[in-house]
Amino acid sequence: MTVKQAATTHESGTRAVVLGGSIAGLFAARVLSEAYDEVQIVDRDRLVGVAGTRRGRPQGKHINAMHCRGRLVMEELYPGITDELIADGCPSGDMAGSVRWYFRGKRAKQPHVGLLAVPATAPLMEQHIRERTQQLPNVTFVERRDVLGLVTAPGGGKVTGVRVHRLDDPQDGASAEEVIDADLVVDATGRGSRTPVWLEELGYGRVEEERKKIGLGYVTQHYRMKKDPYHGDLAIIPVAWPALPRGAIFTKTDGGRTELTTYGILGDHPPTDQAGLYGWLKTLPCPDIYEAVQNAEPLDEPVAFRFPTTVRQRYERMSRFPEGLLVVGDAVACFNPVYAQGMTVAAMTALTLREHLHSGAAPVPQDYFRDLARDVIDPPWEMTNTVDLSFPGVQGERPLKVRLGQAYLARVQVAATKDAKVAAAYMRCAGMVDRPDALMKPKVVLRVLRKAWRVPATTVTNPAATAPRAADRHVRAT
Ligand SMILES: Cc1cc2nc3c(=O)[nH]c(=O)nc-3n(C[C@H](O)[C@H](O)[C@H](O)COP(=O)(O)OP(=O)(O)OC[C@H]3O[C@@H](n4cnc5c(N)ncnc54)[C@H](O)[C@@H]3O)c2cc1C
Repeated sequence: MTVKQAATTHESGTRAVVLGGSIAGLFAARVLSEAYDEVQIVDRDRLVGVAGTRRGRPQGKHINAMHCRGRLVMEELYPGITDELIADGCPSGDMAGSVRWYFRGKRAKQPHVGLLAVPATAPLMEQHIRERTQQLPNVTFVERRDVLGLVTAPGGGKVTGVRVHRLDDPQDGASAEEVIDADLVVDATGRGSRTPVWLEELGYGRVEEERKKIGLGYVTQHYRMKKDPYHGDLAIIPVAWPALPRGAIFTKTDGGRTELTTYGILGDHPPTDQAGLYGWLKTLPCPDIYEAVQNAEPLDEPVAFRFPTTVRQRYERMSRFPEGLLVVGDAVACFNPVYAQGMTVAAMTALTLREHLHSGAAPVPQDYFRDLARDVIDPPWEMTNTVDLSFPGVQGERPLKVRLGQAYLARVQVAATKDAKVAAAYMRCAGMVDRPDALMKPKVVLRVLRKAWRVPATTVTNPAATAPRAADRHVRAT
């Protein structure tokens, strides 16, 4: 496929410029292509034709589970993409029926819920989404450009473009710095987004920022299995809980490989040496993964990733915001990756963006940010905040609402190990197909309380769990 040349002037028609060509930027470009004559995606990396991991998306070396809701939205935006992923070697199965979940150390029931999971490594999924976006006739990739800042109309009330720096030497003697004019700029540059700084420089004040220190550490390795440990299942997922804040995702993925990401929070991080990693896997609250890797050939070295804090920019609370600028993806909210919400939120954000483009007029930033916060970000943010705060070492306020939520979620998890209907309801919420309040329906509450009126106090009994924060801790159930 050829790369269309990017024009840096804006002579006719309308143009939207997306900063960052990762998942959120691609989804945004997809819906912008319906409303603008031209869409340019600017990134400091080379993107077109790239098949593996890349510098601008280091998380691409780690697990990349897309929730069912995200996959459904992706399918709406790119019809047939699920089949394309499967045809390209991705396995598939039911998110509950084919996945061996462990909650609070016990195996959950595995009802078939009809939620298709298609595990793909991060680079392969990005490649498929990118190739479908490339096929849109009015979308152009402007690669190897570092975004330096915004260009505004006099007075700073309207963004009219971006300043970029060419990372490859200009061959025609042109300046390395360019201005790309735009009717709309959409920032999708991820966690390191500079929009908060740019807004401050333009006199809009600093956006309110929410951070939660979770001290998460990931380690990932790929394997070729000599024996199938899954007995037909797609993945084994022991979830961390306060008594043992360690977990893992061990899933079949593309290329006939198995991807393992294991994690610990608050500084209790998996080791990256092979023997140490195997020892760590022994401490997980299920023997399956440790046993499985005994019959597996490692395909690469274990690699680590540190994720110190969750971050959310509260753009919806700003009283003033320049016209012609919006923000999407991790640049707005960077979730605890353990819950695998980022790509689904990015997909749902594209639908919100699309609603704000439908009038034909330029979107009103405050209206967009209000709807984005209320309809897309708040439900998963509040749910995972509640879970994060159930770990005693995570700092933050725990008002009654949060403590009640924690007590109820603990019961849902216990009940999911005993009752297939509760497991199904929980998986529909975890897969973001239903909103978290679906777990509060009277029928579900009754089942949960019948099966798990009391949550047993939990002692870590696994003798191998010797890490300072995990061992010898006696946790009273919330
Ligand atoms: C360890 C880890 C594991 C994760 N696992 C999951 C998971 O299992 N499931 C899930 O749904 N989500 C997961 N996420 C989150 C998910 O990766 C993101 O939510 C998703 O990729 C959307 O991110 P984004 O497109 O907003 O930003 P990013 O993916 O961070 O991309 C930002 C892009 O902007 C470009 N860029 C940045 N600055 C500039 C600049 N100045 N100039 C030019 N280009 C620039 C970069 O090159 C990059 O292409 C995980 C995150 C981490 C950290």
